[in-house]
Amino acid sequence: MSTIRFNALKETMNRKPLEIKNGGRKSEYFGENVFNEYAMRQYMTKDAYKSVMDAIEYGTKIERGIADQVAAAMKDWALSKDATHYTHWFQPLTGATAEKHDAFFETIGNGRAMEKFGGGELVQQEPDASSFPNGGIRNTFEARGYTAWDPTSPAFIYGTTLCIPTVFVAYTGEALDNKAPLLRALQAVDHAATAVCKYFDKNVTKVNASLGWEQEYFLIDAALAISRPDINLTGRTLLGHSPAKGQQLDDHYFGSIPNRVMSYMRDLEQECMLLGIPVKTRHNEVAPNQYELAPIFEEANLAVDHNSLLMDVMEKIAERHHFRVLFHEKPFAGINGSGKHNNWSLATNTGVNLLSPGKTPMKNLQFLTFFVNTIKAVHDYEELIRASIASASNDHRLGANEAPPAIMSVFIGSQLSEVLDELENVTKGKLSPEEKTDLKLNIVGKIPEILLDNTDRNRTSPFAFTGNKFEFRAVGSWANCAGPMTTLNTIIAKQLKDFKIEVDKLVETKKLKKDEAVFNVLREYIKASKKIRFEGNGYGEAWEKEAKRRGLSNNKTTPEALKAKISKNAIALFEEMGVMSKVEVEARHEIELEEYILRIQIEGRVLGDIARNHVIPTAVRYQNTLIENVSGLKNIFGTSFKVHAKEQIDLIEKISAHIAEINSKVEAMTNERRKANKLVGQKSADAYCNNVKSYFEEIRYHCDKLEMMVDDELWPLAKYRELLFTR
Ligand code: ADP
Ligand code: MG
Repeated sequence: MSTIRFNALKETMNRKPLEIKNGGRKSEYFGENVFNEYAMRQYMTKDAYKSVMDAIEYGTKIERGIADQVAAAMKDWALSKDATHYTHWFQPLTGATAEKHDAFFETIGNGRAMEKFGGGELVQQEPDASSFPNGGIRNTFEARGYTAWDPTSPAFIYGTTLCIPTVFVAYTGEALDNKAPLLRALQAVDHAATAVCKYFDKNVTKVNASLGWEQEYFLIDAALAISRPDINLTGRTLLGHSPAKGQQLDDHYFGSIPNRVMSYMRDLEQECMLLGIPVKTRHNEVAPNQYELAPIFEEANLAVDHNSLLMDVMEKIAERHHFRVLFHEKPFAGINGSGKHNNWSLATNTGVNLLSPGKTPMKNLQFLTFFVNTIKAVHDYEELIRASIASASNDHRLGANEAPPAIMSVFIGSQLSEVLDELENVTKGKLSPEEKTDLKLNIVGKIPEILLDNTDRNRTSPFAFTGNKFEFRAVGSWANCAGPMTTLNTIIAKQLKDFKIEVDKLVETKKLKKDEAVFNVLREYIKASKKIRFEGNGYGEAWEKEAKRRGLSNNKTTPEALKAKISKNAIALFEEMGVMSKVEVEARHEIELEEYILRIQIEGRVLGDIARNHVIPTAVRYQNTLIENVSGLKNIFGTSFKVHAKEQIDLIEKISAHIAEINSKVEAMTNERRKANKLVGQKSADAYCNNVKSYFEEIRYHCDKLEMMVDDELWPLAKYRELLFTR
């Protein structure tokens, strides 16, 4: 067996699960490394505490003097936990997180030193971040970037570093990160939703968007992963023959968790508890070596931070357990890929989930209002929603017959469909007393009961209502949730704002009662947004045809999908809602196109290298063995050797044919890459998508054929059966 693969397998086989000490009750150490309300109360003055709480609740500014007090408290707390450094923790447009550590330590003359951390260091920093992507923002404005404290997401200690969540913005005000637009979108949805809530309850003064993500991932033994340049450099396998056994027996899903994996998960959960990430659920997923982790939902900004942090923690803990975590949406061909369902809802500061029906008809009308407005928003901006989850890696799910499809649609279940159908018939204008009573008692009033036993679930829908929240399922496992959450909350904000204007107008001009006006506008929305509702199977060809007939978009590739982000409509939306300026929108679009290009470029290079440096030389080596065998047979049997060497000669020919195909295809792909590199922006991305990527499958086909022909002992790359069934 090739030495690399042999050593990797040996190492893997010798692994034992790490002992995990029983960490005691989770509730006892939950949030221990977080500067949360409890820690703030302990370490901060009353004034400082109140000021931070007001900033969290109402977005008020924190005075410089108070910031000094907060910093001093944070430092004392952090030092009490043996932290030595602090960092502004931010989310540049790479999609990952970034940090630059500074020690608390300062010299104070006389050869002495002390621990220092003031309000200045807490509130603002200027990282030398010139290497982060900025989509031309800083070139255009020659502006430097700075990070600024986000008090709504609490500081935490990770390792020995105090991490302070921050936004990253240019001095000219443009956001250079994922968090700043998200915060603006959350503020927009707060304002719009609060205004609508006032129709139903005057006491509501704030609405928070909530997010509960479900993170899917693969765990692969680290030694085996190292034997695969494709996994190392691209996060997925670019070739590999499917194993004799895949996921067809469904024996992994919800099965008992393997010991080594359990040890990893327990270690991971302990760290999450300390960091205040409320992880609750863990289980095996459908594919072999695929798992899922889900928390209790939180306010969306905090949940996004927690997911970004979690992905980092997962990788670090994996190192300790000699695992490699794969977040790629499709690491292995032929078996399920990974997603990150984004469960989303809106909740008032009076404790009401706006997507959960209540006890009174009025509360249910409120539920219906938010429910129908959400459907309408997704209807109006379906292409933008699709664009918000576009990436080279997620294309493998969305555009390729895997859950869910690239066509955006909303699933609500048969009972709620019936309710909406009935509401479509509400009389235009004033309602008769009989109709009002009927609506209240028989339609709106019935919703809570029907929802209780609403068991229908549609796993193929990209955007499904699941009882008290919408589940945006098309988000990729590798994605930063900030992108889709920014878009979703922005379109909902816009929709609710328009709704309020329309209702107010009916009340004023047509003298309708408030609830009458609400019914009237909802009726029109239900009619107008019908085409986005789909209850059937989202995978089938039939749906593709039907969706086309309905005029829904079906943007299968990222270069195609991203166009919607810079449409006139999208730019107007983000500007109107104060979420992003035209420059900010265009910068992000440019960065995402560029990232697409780079990812496909790297994959193309890696595939070419593996094909030529691993696959062909191995095939040649095996072919030589065959040739030797054939000439030996010839020596023994003379002219009748062909009878004995038939299979061998056949193989020799086939191997030559595959090698020739690989060579010419790699050559052709390289040529296309050169052409694509001469182009820029959309044209380059299109070329990579249509002319370069199209060779991947063809090259892979021949490599995988060779994998099945060549002596297993010689094959240098860990095989699918080893990657997927070793744990
Ligand atoms: P599934 O069957 O899809 O796995 P679960 O019932 O396990 O669904 O819930 C999935 C996620 O939904 C969890 O992370 C949970 O915290 C989250 N969730 C529940 N209610 C809400 C809500 N109101 N807002 C946002 N997320 C929620
Ligand atoms: Mg789910």
